[in-house]
Amino acid sequence: MTVILRTVAELREVVRGWKAEGHVVGVVPTMGALHDGHLSLARRAKAECGRVITTIFVNPKQFNNPDDLKKYPRTEEADAALLRWVGVEVVFCPAPEEVYPQGFVTTVSVGGVSQPLEGELRPGHFDGVATVVAKLFGMTQADRGYFGQKDWQQLQVVQRLVADLNMAVTVVGCETVRDPDGLAMSSRNVRLTAAGRQKAPALYAAMLAAARDFRSGVPEQEAMARATAAVMAEGFESVEYIELRDAETLGPVTDADRPIRMLAAAWLDGVRLIDNIAV
Ligand code: AMP
Repeated sequence: MTVILRTVAELREVVRGWKAEGHVVGVVPTMGALHDGHLSLARRAKAECGRVITTIFVNPKQFNNPDDLKKYPRTEEADAALLRWVGVEVVFCPAPEEVYPQGFVTTVSVGGVSQPLEGELRPGHFDGVATVVAKLFGMTQADRGYFGQKDWQQLQVVQRLVADLNMAVTVVGCETVRDPDGLAMSSRNVRLTAAGRQKAPALYAAMLAAARDFRSGVPEQEAMARATAAVMAEGFESVEYIELRDAETLGPVTDADRPIRMLAAAWLDGVRLIDNIAV
């Protein structure tokens, strides 16, 4: 049975019971408007944990752009139906006042890995993410937290947060789920026009081509420039970055023996798309 809970007090009560019975508790934090990417996290959590909580909370603190927050899709009933289908035990949908009550003044700020790329382009975004993730771990008392590689930098921020604050949570990073044409699934994809949706897979295609070029000896700058040119030629409005980074620190690639990640952000149809791949 799937229950929807809205208060921290009710959630704690339920989790206390589960823990007394010795269950491993998993949490899948989301902002709702669920798609197969989110559901893959929930299914993995179900496979690995005795009890699973999916949280649905459009966290105002992680939106640097008020218009993006206003336009963020909200589909709670459909989301709950999907989660019932997957069999998660609890859907936690708190109101903003439940998460940030009067008097709330704490910010969790992860240094280093939060700073480049999304950190530069979306000021305050990762403080909002780290704060809400720390709170969700505290509220749910989860043993395992499930996050998508789709938001690669976010996943590194969460790993760092848990390590630095000795949180008793195992962070599990799950593969990016894509539409058949390669576009990474995202709640924001519904905001693309039909024409934009046709063009959108060009980002992933250009990234794959750039990774092949780089591996076959094309210099980093040139490979990335070719990818940017390919995406712009497809009709994207702009490319914020297509870059190679150290997969864990998100710093520049200095040691070719460490894992390398290609990360990208680009605008199409007034929608900001992000993606990343292993190189
Ligand atoms: P969001 O609702 O966008 O905050 O995403 C909630 C979680 O789902 C995050 O850990 C995301 O990384 C993950 N996620 C979003 N899209 C995908 C995807 N296409 N594949 C895998 N995980 C995803």
